Amino acid sequence: MRIVIALGGNAILRKGEKGSPEEQWSNVRRTASLIAKTFQQDEIIITHGNGPQVGYLLEVMNMAKGYPSQSMDLADAMTQGWLGFMLQMALEEAFQGRRRAVAIITRTLVDANDPSFKNPTKFVGAYFSEAEAKRLSSEYGWTFKQDPRGGYRRVVPSPEPLDILESDLIEELAREGMVVISAGGGGIPVMRTPEGLRPVEAVVDKDLASSLLAVKLKADLFIILTDVRGVAIGFGKPNERWLDEVSADELEEYYRKGEFPPGSMGPKVLAALRFVRSTKKIAMIGSLDELPEVVRGSSGTRIRP
Ligand code: ADP
Ligand code: MG
Repeated sequence: MRIVIALGGNAILRKGEKGSPEEQWSNVRRTASLIAKTFQQDEIIITHGNGPQVGYLLEVMNMAKGYPSQSMDLADAMTQGWLGFMLQMALEEAFQGRRRAVAIITRTLVDANDPSFKNPTKFVGAYFSEAEAKRLSSEYGWTFKQDPRGGYRRVVPSPEPLDILESDLIEELAREGMVVISAGGGGIPVMRTPEGLRPVEAVVDKDLASSLLAVKLKADLFIILTDVRGVAIGFGKPNERWLDEVSADELEEYYRKGEFPPGSMGPKVLAALRFVRSTKKIAMIGSLDELPEVVRGSSGTRIRP
């Protein structure tokens, strides 16, 4: 079996943690041992988010007096190295040397005409006062919006992923038996220009990028792991109901009715739907802590064609 596993933020950092290296190592080791316990002979392709890490880098860059801030694509590349390295170390250890792991700097192709470039909505980096936001806006040309949680924050576009440029290399390495870590943070967004490929200041949703990768690789199974037990209808309400197994048609109906918010469960459901629709295979959304149970079908939500 060829399996694509999308890891959520809790694979690296848990709620209430500050993000010391020790905390990260301990989470990543846990994640890796759950993966090694669940899959032995399968082809494994792992993707991951980078929200807290890229947020940290952007904040640090703004504090480094006398140094220019680096661009988002460079911050993305840094986090692919950072988290790719940690996962590589932890996975090889978890597989006790039976398998090697490799992390790939991955680029995601986006369209310059994507509507999101006219309406950036994705908050990134630190919170600023109005005056600081104005200064940074004139220095770097960044767009700022008032965050509902207070203060001003930079917003960037979140365009649709069109292609994962390294998918052929990912496939080759997976076929060789390597555990491949790729498309970290949704991949580094690049677009085609008359001069060639150029990076863009944007964030591609990691679940949508992972879904596209799973489709391109013709994966047999696509698993999205997060910090809740699965997909719920009426989430957080008295009539909350967790879905065990659901058809793509039924789930799409709930999606249209607005059961899943854009910043969290929405893209996961959309990612699962796209995979199931185009491959006719099963997708799963479940808790990282229950990975073996999710795969066995005794936990999580399975989405069937
Ligand atoms: P990740 O880092 O794994 O991408 P997110 O925070 O983006 O995690 O998304 C997972 C969160 O989605 C859960 O912690 C939960 O609070 C939230 N959520 C929103 N709506 C739902 C829903 N209908 N069913 C389950 N979880 C939901
Ligand atoms: Mg998320």
